[in-house]
Amino acid sequence: MHFVDAKGILTGKNGYYGMNIYRGCSHGCIYCDSRSRCYQFTHPFEDIEVKRNAPELLEKVLRSKRKRCMIGTGAMSDPYMHCEEDLRLTRKCLEIINKYGFGAAIQTKSDRILQDIDLLDEINRSAKCVVQITLTTYDDDLCRILEPNVCNTKRRIEVLEEMHERGIPTIVWLTPILPFINDTEENITSIMNECVRTGVKGIIDFGMGLTLREGDREYYYAALDKHFPGMKQRYIRTYGNSYELPSPDAKELTAVYKKICRENDMMSTPDECFRYMGELPDKHSQISIFDL
Ligand code: SF4
Repeated sequence: MHFVDAKGILTGKNGYYGMNIYRGCSHGCIYCDSRSRCYQFTHPFEDIEVKRNAPELLEKVLRSKRKRCMIGTGAMSDPYMHCEEDLRLTRKCLEIINKYGFGAAIQTKSDRILQDIDLLDEINRSAKCVVQITLTTYDDDLCRILEPNVCNTKRRIEVLEEMHERGIPTIVWLTPILPFINDTEENITSIMNECVRTGVKGIIDFGMGLTLREGDREYYYAALDKHFPGMKQRYIRTYGNSYELPSPDAKELTAVYKKICRENDMMSTPDECFRYMGELPDKHSQISIFDL
């Protein structure tokens, strides 16, 4: 881990901002796109870059904004990876978001998010807080191989339960689905049943498959060689050097999850989910004259 003073903290435009406090990730998912070469890391992916001045930068920006909106975090690195336990920078940023009446959309795989549940509750009551959890693999033994340094799916489902009990809305990222590994109807149905039970509002899926590019591909193939002998060759035979690797059963698996969404009134497309996460109800979006 190393520390930097960042120049900026928010990306995006009026209406929705993204924020990455950390760069790199310690969760070790074998398929992680964020380690791809195109992101131009100048340090090892596991040597986390910490934007130590993130809270100060965030406060400076939010203080000057007249229109409130949603702020997302977790797109490029998990905001609740191991170092957050000590550094608490995600928490400090959420406190600032809460202080200025903004909303938050947080994406994680980690149960460390529960350490901030009171704060999430407050943000949700005063503005809006959406928690996004990634679930790829119902079988926890397989999950341990694919996502080795973060809590298993069973525990993530408990996180969804906790959020549901508090009335904090949740979205599940059902992606990536790895061809010949977790692309089974049983896996998708089991995850979806838990999503229904825990009141998840919407599912994000990008076509029941995986993407691979330079940097990410080498890491993934090395993991396949280690844990699934012969699988790399099967991938190369099936997909060559493609960026998109849809499951051969993508159509059927998509139909399975869409049906469950329809029957349970859940959002089932990325567009719907992103629109929902970008919306801050009107009553919260304007600063009243009493706030000035
Ligand atoms: S949690 Fe996300 S950012 Fe971290 S290693 Fe896994 S896929 Fe990559």
